[in-house]
Amino acid sequence: MTHTHPGGVTWTLGEAEDYKRQRDGETMKLWVWRSACAVCGAPIQVKTVTTDPETPATGRNLLKKHCPEHAWKFPAKGEKLGQRK
Ligand SMILES: [Zn+2]
Repeated sequence: MTHTHPGGVTWTLGEAEDYKRQRDGETMKLWVWRSACAVCGAPIQVKTVTTDPETPATGRNLLKKHCPEHAWKFPAKGEKLGQRK
């Protein structure tokens, strides 16, 4: 399954990982999405709790467009330069 985010990045859905939530210790699935940095093409990935890109939490994660090296130069909409660590 692939999803092209309105931000312009096409994500490919990969495998699910088991994730133990810190707050209550509950085990849940995290889905891995893979894409490439919009600048250099380096592999990037995000993890989401559902495979539905229409949910706000997933959609927000899929806003990512850049590898760590380039993220600070190209802030996502609503972010300020230098905000990311
Ligand atoms: Zn990059």
